[in-house]
Amino acid sequence: MGERVLIALGGNAMTAPDGSASPEDQRAAIEQAMGPVRGLIEAGHRVVLTHGNGPQVGNLLLKNQIAADVVPPVPLDWCGAQTQATIGTLVLNALGGRTATVVTRTLVDAADPAFADPVKPIGRYFTEQEARRFEKLGQSWRRFERGWRRVVASPEPLEILDADAVRALMAAGFTVVAAGGGGVPVVRRADGSLTGVEAVIDKDLAAALLARAVGATTLIIATDVPNAVVGYGGPDPRPIGRISAGELRVLHAAGHFAGGSMGPKVEAALRFVSGGGSLAVITALRDLAEALTGNVGTRVEPLAKEAENHAGSD
Ligand code: ADP
Ligand code: MG
Repeated sequence: MGERVLIALGGNAMTAPDGSASPEDQRAAIEQAMGPVRGLIEAGHRVVLTHGNGPQVGNLLLKNQIAADVVPPVPLDWCGAQTQATIGTLVLNALGGRTATVVTRTLVDAADPAFADPVKPIGRYFTEQEARRFEKLGQSWRRFERGWRRVVASPEPLEILDADAVRALMAAGFTVVAAGGGGVPVVRRADGSLTGVEAVIDKDLAAALLARAVGATTLIIATDVPNAVVGYGGPDPRPIGRISAGELRVLHAAGHFAGGSMGPKVEAALRFVSGGGSLAVITALRDLAEALTGNVGTRVEPLAKEAENHAGSD
């Protein structure tokens, strides 16, 4: 019997980090990434795909800024929806067969503290002069080593609002692309209606939530490094292979995984297996074909068995 597998593809699967990849390059990268995905589907697994969109949103923001005098700039949640559609379409073409893309909204709390202190950098680097101009329009900008970047809130994803549609398509035999870029962030107004917000949602945390919502047994986070590493960038880096959620949580708490990159992947893996998932794998995209069967990547397993044993001996 096949597994239900949620695969989260890093933005690096599709463009250079600065977003400079041409449409042709992005199409080619997705076609290449879909090779092992097709392998998993043909092996009998039910697959749901999600993906990052950082570089693509960065490009849209830049177009909005340059064209602002001619066409009114659209809000960030619209940019998120646009990238779900374009990347989703590339996946549909590359994968073929019964595949569908769901424009997906993710619920966040309007009172999330992230809104009061936006820290997630998006888009490209600009000069201070340009940054100040956009600050006057109400945006938050910060200085980084390489220049100024816009920062926005990255609130906690609370619920994948369109998970029902994903489940229905899965039941009908579709491979589904959903919650791209973490989902389009929406908040619930006092009257119960929903509206988009200027925020971005971490795609790995959203992937963990979607994986639970569709009853996935396995979460695979495909990125550009083969493992989560203890002592990353230091003199004695140690790649993590098989590990229990308990052990990984200790390393996470000790600060081994950088915020905004490996940190959310580790957090997503922990949340997934703690919430009932059987296995979370953080691995390189090129090792995706072996993620289920091989011994590749950082493989996070729940504590359940150990916990039961401990409980028995107490
Ligand atoms: P993605 O686009 O796949 O989400 P990210 O750039 O967000 O990729 O995260 C992957 C990056 O995390 C790696 O390229 C690596 O530079 C960085 N990283 C930070 N800390 C670690 C760590 N402890 N182990 C491995 N990689 C790490
Ligand atoms: Mg990332």
